Amino acid sequence: MKIILLGPPGAGKGTQAALLMEKYSIPQVSTGDMLRAAVQAQSPMGIEAKKHMNAGGLVPDNVVIGIVRERLQEDDCQEGFILDGFPRTRPQADSLKQVLVELGKKLDAVISLQVDTDALVERLTGRRTCSDCGKGFHLRFDPPAEDGSCRYCGGKLNQRDDDREETIRNRMKVYQQQTAPLEDYYRQEGLLVAVDGMSDIAAVQQAILVALQGR
Ligand code: ADP
Ligand code: ADP
Ligand code: ZN
Repeated sequence: MKIILLGPPGAGKGTQAALLMEKYSIPQVSTGDMLRAAVQAQSPMGIEAKKHMNAGGLVPDNVVIGIVRERLQEDDCQEGFILDGFPRTRPQADSLKQVLVELGKKLDAVISLQVDTDALVERLTGRRTCSDCGKGFHLRFDPPAEDGSCRYCGGKLNQRDDDREETIRNRMKVYQQQTAPLEDYYRQEGLLVAVDGMSDIAAVQQAILVALQGR
């Protein structure tokens, strides 16, 4: 299964990608996670990326395209993958198309998660991530253990630097301008499947699985 999860910041892409990864035994390819790892490692790319990420802007296309191109050639992506947070611009979508042709692969579906702006802001401000195992939580909708630690490994939970109200607003704007047009792009390719992302995590997962069954 080769899928793209499309949707604004906070729509639930990472949450649903993790569930699909288990279900289909295929990797989650999250450009956000890969970029945060580069920031953490303080590599030259990470240092450059951090400026854009903390401002809520996009990391330059050539950087992100390079990362994804390499990642999709790794062994574990050969049976399928879940792209989470990529593509985010028209040039990224065009490059992906070209990479897939080179690799002889075809996308099965582009799942577009539909969530209201108010809900997005609430999801992002309550988002926490385990610093040890990387699992995502929400203070209200997917709560951590009673002592505030990770339910899976007991690790300490962090809030992302870019999940602050000011940065969130800019990310939403960037999404509307640069990424939302990809819905039309993939509709024209016959790949777009809109899924209601407003219900709880389990119900959204069910809706995605149903949508994928026909593919
Ligand atoms: P979210 O899913 O909450 O929007 P991500 O973890 O996908 O956040 O991305 C965090 C940040 O990383 C983005 O705001 C952007 O700066 C950068 N980023 C991630 N993916 C891309 C991409 N495909 N193109 C450009 N920048 C990206
Ligand atoms: P994205 O990767 O699209 O930015 P996430 O998967 O990180 O979004 O989800 C953002 C936040 O919202 C997380 O704290 C997550 O636990 C929570 N969340 C995800 N899906 C839902 C849902 N269906 N209902 C309520 N909260 C959700
Ligand atoms: Zn953990």
